[in-house]
Amino acid sequence: MKNQTEQKKVVIIGGGFAGIEVARLLSKDGLAEVTLVSKNTCFQYYPNLYRLVVGATVNQVSIPLSSIFSKKVNLIIDTYVSMDATQKTLTLKSGVVVPYDYVVMALGSEPNYFGIDGMEVHSKSFLSVEKALALKAYLLQQITDSKGLSTDEAKKKLHTIIVGAGPSGTELAGALGPFLKGEAKKAGVDPKLISIDLLDSAPRVLSAIPEKGSQLVTAQLKKNGVTVYSNYGVNACDGDCISVTDRASTEVASGEVKTLRFEASTVIWTAGTKISTVFAIIPGVVMTEKKRVQVTPKLTLPTDDTIYIAGDGTGTPYSGLAQTAIDQGQYLATAISNRIHGIAVADYMPKQGTFVIPVGKYWAILNHKTLVVSGLLAFIIRFIVDAKYFMSITSFSHVITMLKKDTSA
Ligand SMILES: Cc1cc2nc3c(=O)[nH]c(=O)nc-3n(C[C@H](O)[C@H](O)[C@H](O)COP(=O)(O)OP(=O)(O)OC[C@H]3O[C@@H](n4cnc5c(N)ncnc54)[C@H](O)[C@@H]3O)c2cc1C
Repeated sequence: MKNQTEQKKVVIIGGGFAGIEVARLLSKDGLAEVTLVSKNTCFQYYPNLYRLVVGATVNQVSIPLSSIFSKKVNLIIDTYVSMDATQKTLTLKSGVVVPYDYVVMALGSEPNYFGIDGMEVHSKSFLSVEKALALKAYLLQQITDSKGLSTDEAKKKLHTIIVGAGPSGTELAGALGPFLKGEAKKAGVDPKLISIDLLDSAPRVLSAIPEKGSQLVTAQLKKNGVTVYSNYGVNACDGDCISVTDRASTEVASGEVKTLRFEASTVIWTAGTKISTVFAIIPGVVMTEKKRVQVTPKLTLPTDDTIYIAGDGTGTPYSGLAQTAIDQGQYLATAISNRIHGIAVADYMPKQGTFVIPVGKYWAILNHKTLVVSGLLAFIIRFIVDAKYFMSITSFSHVITMLKKDTSA
């Protein structure tokens, strides 16, 4: 007969960076019954989604969840809808009710448009495999449609504005110029008609890294044909046009606000994310000032120690990064296993991650605390970090596929 500890049901909601790590590691010890609920059949490797826009295949940026886990994990493809914390049950969209002893909520993030007029409706995004593929198809269509237009009309059709010079906007901007110019050439369209702007309300690109790093990235973007507009706050987007406030030259004293209009047929929004709105409906949740879930040092809710929060949702330092989500997933696998075994559980110790952002071909910027490394070396480090992570969750042959150069158009 199985003893009490063998019967604990651990349910993880969300098959992203944090959820995968908890499920994978916790299922190894075999004492808990581990269930992972995910609304997607595949794990999407967000840091490389921009590559899907510039020629990678779906196989290169995603991994089927069923191939990641052994039979020790019950995988349910469904959407979590609600929780009864008294009965300890979770209800899924299909109507299935899943009982739990411990639940890990690892729901990730969603875009935040900050209420900017028309932005959600008119801008494009690449924050999922589906959206990235749709964006690529749209951009290629602009090239086709520019044929036969006057020079001015073609320039507008081939003008792309990326809003948000954070990691995802910067990565995409660096890769998009060479890709679109190459595609234009193939289609018999003058590549000089293509233009890409990167806009941000902050005074410099990648404002989270030291200024020296931002300068190196700005120069690299320029080399890849990108024009950077810093200090430009976007006010509205109407499909053909975005209006922005030039914050650097706005005359606050005279009360005059300088509003400019940029015309472009493609506006890509990368300027904001917020934690999944589903976190807010977990019973007993309280949000921190930074709009993340308040957690105890053991990553449980203060009001219910059977509900764990992991990844982007946690109100801990350095949340919002894949590295933090992986780290928390690893912590929770040990913490929950120890708890089941009756072993003391240490507190979670937040770790500061390292940024490595590719900008164009074979060039990246690395930043850890005050250290800044740029160029091929940083690019190789990013390649190794990606490879190491892929090796931990997928087969060797799939790792090779994921690391291959982007080829398709
Ligand atoms: C374009 C982009 C580029 C990025 N680049 C980097 C980078 O270079 N470096 C870095 O460190 N971080 C990067 N990040 C951030 C990083 O991807 C996130 O911090 C990380 O994904 C958070 O992991 P998570 O497990 O909390 O959530 P996720 O990985 O987002 O996983 C959450 C999962 O939960 C699922 N889900 C949500 N709601 C439900 C529901 N109701 N029912 C069932 N399933 C549900 C989602 O479909 C998703 O699969 C990037 C993010 C984006 C969007």
